[in-house]
Amino acid sequence: MIKQRSSLEQLPLYVPGKKMPHAIKLSANENPYPPLDSVLETVREAAPGFHLYPDMGAVDLIARIAQRLEVRPEEISVGAGSIEVLGQIINASADEGDEVIFAWRSFEAYPILTQVAGAKPVMIPLTADERHDLPAMAAAVTDRTRVILLCTPNNPTGTSLSTEEIEGFLASVPSDVLVVIDEAYVHFNTDENAASGIDFFRRYDNVAVLHTFSKAYGLAGLRVGYAVAPERIAANLRRVAMPFAVNTLAQVAAIASLDAEPELQKRVDTLVGERARVTAELRSMGWSIPEPYGNFVWLRVETARIPEVDAALLEKGVVTRAYPSDGVRVTIGSPEMNDTFLEAIRAVTPE
Ligand code: PMP
Repeated sequence: MIKQRSSLEQLPLYVPGKKMPHAIKLSANENPYPPLDSVLETVREAAPGFHLYPDMGAVDLIARIAQRLEVRPEEISVGAGSIEVLGQIINASADEGDEVIFAWRSFEAYPILTQVAGAKPVMIPLTADERHDLPAMAAAVTDRTRVILLCTPNNPTGTSLSTEEIEGFLASVPSDVLVVIDEAYVHFNTDENAASGIDFFRRYDNVAVLHTFSKAYGLAGLRVGYAVAPERIAANLRRVAMPFAVNTLAQVAAIASLDAEPELQKRVDTLVGERARVTAELRSMGWSIPEPYGNFVWLRVETARIPEVDAALLEKGVVTRAYPSDGVRVTIGSPEMNDTFLEAIRAVTPE
């Protein structure tokens, strides 16, 4: 028997959003719109060069992100999706047995990446209203804590953290612990009190922000994301990054997407409008759902009923993300996709 890491079998597996032929896929928080013509054209132009390695330093992309956010290029590390960048953060921060604190339920990659790095996940249950329990997260800090992940809006519950909340939280955690604000869904966050990760990054020496091109920018299949982090930390992230992870097509598409922000914003606005419509309809059916701030809504469902809800939706050709406990997350799609979902969920008795 070939020897492997003994802890590997305990590792939870990442469950990707299900896909079924002919079904409507609302299971992976993807953008339902196809690539913009301008972005697609840029990718086509770059495609004949893919026999060569990409620019490992992603110099042009990093310069463009730096310009967009008014930060320095030295403060940015890119990766193949923000998942890879989060892996960089944990690998660069935690030694064997060190601790990474995050809310639970939150993004399912958190416990996996933590354990792959040999670190220990410290999972703090959400409050009854599906929000981060920040006092409990602060109280969980020990000498072994290396990273705290704040996910806002939180995947899968959609709740948002306010400026005041994060301000209070940062005051209560040691300044030598890195606090990562995962803003994968920031473009959809319409909460007027929402914290801005970049503002916190500018004001605190122990804050990093995680952004992705997969959601609002619609580049999920190309895989590109980045962290904005204090210079020394960003340099360490680049040190542990997978060399050449961000391919040429992803790099040019990300630049083209930043150039196309006004056009992409219209799509985001439509999705936010659809989110309000879906939420209102669900509530009128009797579902009690937390105010959603991402591109998805959260149905808290009693564990025993989750398979029934999942099956009822599947039967109508709608694939959502049913967690084995806790509930069902439904991505906001195009108006037609959402209509199909709403029609399907009508057959289900709300909690
Ligand atoms: N953070 C959160 C909260 C997410 O929900 C996701 C995607 N599901 C990611 C990060 C990673 O996205 P990507 O790797 O595509 O950038």
